Amino acid sequence: MSVADYDVDYSDVEGRKAECPEGCGMCCLCQPEVLPEERLFFRENHPKELVKSKTQDPYFALALKKGRGSCVFLNDRRCGIYGRRPAYCRQFPYHIYVGERVKVELNLSCRGVWTGKGNDAREEAAQIVKAADGRIGKAVREAGDVYKQFYRNCKDAGVMSDQALLRSSVSDNLAGFTDLSRLSAIMEAAQMEPVMTLKGLPTGSAPDMEGLEEAARSVAAESMATNDPLSVPIYCDRDWNWNIFMVDESGGTVEWKVLDDEGDAILKGKSPTDSIPLRPLSPDAGKVMEDYISILNHRDSFMGSVFSLIDYNEYEDDMANAYYGCLSTTVLDLMWRASMLDHFMGVGTGAEAMKEAIIFYDMDRLDAPTIGAFV
Ligand code: SF4
Ligand code: SF4
Repeated sequence: MSVADYDVDYSDVEGRKAECPEGCGMCCLCQPEVLPEERLFFRENHPKELVKSKTQDPYFALALKKGRGSCVFLNDRRCGIYGRRPAYCRQFPYHIYVGERVKVELNLSCRGVWTGKGNDAREEAAQIVKAADGRIGKAVREAGDVYKQFYRNCKDAGVMSDQALLRSSVSDNLAGFTDLSRLSAIMEAAQMEPVMTLKGLPTGSAPDMEGLEEAARSVAAESMATNDPLSVPIYCDRDWNWNIFMVDESGGTVEWKVLDDEGDAILKGKSPTDSIPLRPLSPDAGKVMEDYISILNHRDSFMGSVFSLIDYNEYEDDMANAYYGCLSTTVLDLMWRASMLDHFMGVGTGAEAMKEAIIFYDMDRLDAPTIGAFV
């Protein structure tokens, strides 16, 4: 199987540009795997920097500073082996997702995709797909079986929906996900109705702000809950600081820290989570959110993560309820993250604040469990 044997969807990257501005280095905090064909170079030239993972399926990777910071080759936020960096480093910020088809998705946590400058993303993505051809072919064969089994399970459990219809219903109702009274209604229907639709949901009533605020805080806190500063997503801010936010076990306190290259975390602030109110969306922030919901609605990895959740919940949720429910949860998570960034860093409440929340959040999204595979 080769590129000629499978279709690749490039719609996510079409018309976009990507560059790597000086001083970022955020993706060098993700330990890069070294492919079998790249090992010889590192064995011969940098043997101490090549390490074996301690995972169930061990793989080779580049060492991290002090075993927990950025990649050992990152110095002053520049790669010391740029011309020989591993394929996984070259791939960022593109993610190749293999589900029922192959789709290239763009990681919006990379600030280099927001500048509107740089190389043509479609062209870069095509080169990356070509270089990853062998890995993609293998994943296509494996994913086909997984998806077939998943659909059989959904049909047997009576929870199957038409994906194309789900996506078009979201495209037709994007504003419903950023209008808080409709968002409340969607979330309630996702929990209460056996099979929900977006049609005929109540509009115009006052949103249940208390309920939304509690749900938003709980969903965001859950994704930041950890004692380990190296297991939470990084938010690279406009000054290239690597920020992390950690919520304690009880969900009652959030700590803001900044990571240095060595992986040490310096405390910058701390607040009770309930002292951070959910800021309503301004119209321009709502528009940025709508655009992001539209991107998620077309991402196969998002659909794959909803499928993974359905499987995890043993096929108890209808596919439509799970899909609309996950999108609603995403909106709440983003709203609370934007509120938290404003609380600690003063990013405001408009379009810029929502953009920063998306930059913070998208890495989490692309890391969510899914029934397909990133290669
Ligand atoms: S996250 Fe993006 S901008 Fe930052 S170093 Fe990586 S590719 Fe470059
Ligand atoms: S090899 Fe270079 S690009 Fe890759 S993680 Fe290390 S410093 Fe970053």
